Amino acid sequence: MIDCIFCRIVAGEIPATRVFEDADTIAFRDIHPAAPTHLLVIPKRHIASLEDVTGADCGILGRMLWNAQRAARAEGLADGGYRLVMNVGENAGQAVPHVHLHVLGGRPFSWPPG
Ligand code: 5GP
Ligand code: ZN
Repeated sequence: MIDCIFCRIVAGEIPATRVFEDADTIAFRDIHPAAPTHLLVIPKRHIASLEDVTGADCGILGRMLWNAQRAARAEGLADGGYRLVMNVGENAGQAVPHVHLHVLGGRPFSWPPG
C-alpha cells in the first residue's frame, strides 16, 4: 500500500475518531482542531490532490460535499453555519497528500483567510 497517513487511517492502521462513514468516504476528527468542531472528510481511495482529480471523480467529490453537510448537521453546526476548506498544493499549505475537505464550525470565521 502507498505510504499515506490518511490511507492508513482508512485501513484502521492509525486510530482516528470517525464520526461518519459510507462506502466511499469517511469523516473523522482532526488531530489538531482549529475550531470547536474540526472534521476531515476524505475519499477512501487514494487521490493525492484536487489537482489529480478528473471527470471520472465527480461522483466522489459530490459525495464528499454531501457527506460534509451530513456530518456538519450531525455535529449541530447547521444553524450557526460552518466553513469547508480544501487546501491544494504548497501555497495553500496542503500538508497531507490525500484529498481532504476540512469541516470547521462552532465559532465565527473571518474572511479573507490568512
Ligand atoms: P492540510 O494542511 O493538508 O489541509 O490539513 C491536514 C490536516 O490533517 C491538518 O489539519 C492536521 O491536523 C490533520 N492531521 C494530520 N495528521 C493527522 C492524523 O494522524 N490524524 C488526524 N485525525 N488528523 C491528522
Ligand atoms: Zn492516501
